[in-house]
Amino acid sequence: MAYSDSRRYKIDRETIERILDSAKIEEVVGDFVTLKRRGVNLIGLCPFHNEKTPSFTVSPAKNLCKCFGCGKGGNAITFVMEHERLTYPEALKWVAKKYGITVEEREETPEEKQRNDDRESMLVANAWASDYFVEQMYGTDEGLSVARSYFASRGLTDATIKRFGLGFCPSSGHRFSDDARGAGYKEEFLLSTGLAIARESDGALRDRFYDRVIFPIHNISGRVVGFGGRTLRTDKKVAKYQNSPESEIYNKRRELYGLFFAKKAIGQEDYAILVEGYADVISMHQAGVENVVASSGTSLTEEQIRLIGR
Ligand code: ZN
Repeated sequence: MAYSDSRRYKIDRETIERILDSAKIEEVVGDFVTLKRRGVNLIGLCPFHNEKTPSFTVSPAKNLCKCFGCGKGGNAITFVMEHERLTYPEALKWVAKKYGITVEEREETPEEKQRNDDRESMLVANAWASDYFVEQMYGTDEGLSVARSYFASRGLTDATIKRFGLGFCPSSGHRFSDDARGAGYKEEFLLSTGLAIARESDGALRDRFYDRVIFPIHNISGRVVGFGGRTLRTDKKVAKYQNSPESEIYNKRRELYGLFFAKKAIGQEDYAILVEGYADVISMHQAGVENVVASSGTSLTEEQIRLIGR
């Protein structure tokens, strides 16, 4: 969960990624536990509970460890946190030191503080919008007749629709922006998230996703960083998909659609299936195949591959 929230600890994201990429689970655990090779894994006496027969297993391939006696384990950082009773930033520093990575620690500058506050405000606005779009789909005639029936026609159950937070943005063109401001959300963040667009002639707020079914895009920790909106009109002049623009919180190259929902299954299956679009990810989940992600509209990037690797 904490991986994407580097800001709280004043260790920059690149450094955290470098630490995570460098840390080899067998080397970190090996500092505390005598490990013996068993097949593709290593095994040793669990440091978290008393045992005579080794059940603490380290998988260099997955870069994870797990005790099959007491259930404790995780990656190199969580192992050090647990074993040395350290906080997340302390554990990061511990591992950084082991691998000779310099961690610059410093107070956030006022500009950084502001930017982080802004990021949080954007995430909060997106979370509100995501709930709003769900309410609009289930709670309005338009939502039910246009969006809900569309998803039903695609064979999606309500459980699936709810799991992925699918919704609908009203067709009026400014209803969402009006309601968001009415609920206390600042224009600034409606614009920076791309939820709203300022009309050129007079600066009035217009809804980016009006009259579209909505697919929220979650980051690896489950927070909504953007949206995909699909029109159900057959008008060729209307772009089929409208997506959130790149922003402080949304970088297309660094996100994979569905990863939050797929990460557990990817860990278990040890591979990920890449499909083309949002709907493919969701249909496969519903069919019971959960290790599925989509790279929204871009070709697979190095950052995305690294993200799956994690
Ligand atoms: Zn144990």
